[in-house]
Amino acid sequence: MAVTEALFREDAYLRETEAKVLGVNDRGGVLFDRTIFYATSGGQPGDTGRIVRANGETVEIAGTITGETKDEIIHLPAPNQPVFEAGETVTLRIDWDRRFNLMRMHTACHLLTVICPYPITGAAVSEEDSRVDFDLPDAGFTKEEVTARLRELIAADHPVSTRWIGDDELAANPSLVKSKNVRPPTGSGRIRLVLIGENGTIDSQPCGGTHVRSLGEIGAIHVGKIEKKGRENRRFRLRFGPLPA
Ligand SMILES: [Zn+2]
Repeated sequence: MAVTEALFREDAYLRETEAKVLGVNDRGGVLFDRTIFYATSGGQPGDTGRIVRANGETVEIAGTITGETKDEIIHLPAPNQPVFEAGETVTLRIDWDRRFNLMRMHTACHLLTVICPYPITGAAVSEEDSRVDFDLPDAGFTKEEVTARLRELIAADHPVSTRWIGDDELAANPSLVKSKNVRPPTGSGRIRLVLIGENGTIDSQPCGGTHVRSLGEIGAIHVGKIEKKGRENRRFRLRFGPLPA
C-alpha cells in the first residue's frame, strides 16, 4: 500500500506541485509521493488535470480516486496517454476553474446544514448543481428564505479553517456529526474538522473535502429547488448565480 501526502488537506488553493512517481498500478492508475489532486470522497468528485513530465510530455488525468485507504490516491489517466516510470519527477496541475467551483459549492453545502440544522442523509457536489438531503418531514422553509440566509452568511465573509482532533474529542462532542448514517472514520486517531467563523462559531463538522478560505469566495448562489424525496426527506438543490426572478 502506498501513502501519498495529500497537500490539498492543508492548502486547498495549491494549483501546481512537483511530485515523484511511486508507481503505476495494474489498471494504469498512477501514484505519487504527494499530490494536489483531491480523490472522490464525501460527495465531492475527484480532480481532473494534467501532469507534465521532464521531457515536456503531458498526461491528461481524467479522474482521481482513493485506493485501499484514503492515504492511497490514484490518478487515472485519460485513454492513450504516455506511461510514467517509477521514480520520475513530474509537475502536477489540477483543472483549477473546475476545482474552485467545487470548493465554492462544497462550502455552500456546509452553510445549508447551518441554516437547516437537521440530520443529513446524502449530499453530492458538482460544478453546476449540488444537493443536500435532510431527514426533515416538513421543510418549513422556502427557497427564497434559505437563499436570503445563504447570502447573509456569504456577505459576512466568515473565515473557513481546519483543525485536527482525536477520536476522543469527537466522541465527547457527538453533535459535531451531522450525517444520519455516515460516521466519520474513527480509529485512525485523528479527524479533520472544518470550521466556519472564528474558532468555528458558525459551524464545525468533520469533513475531508476542499473548501474556500472565506465565505465571500462562494459568490452568488441560490437554492434552485426544495424537493420532497420520500416521506421524511427534503432535497435542497444549490445553483450558482442569483435567485432567478
Ligand atoms: Zn466539507
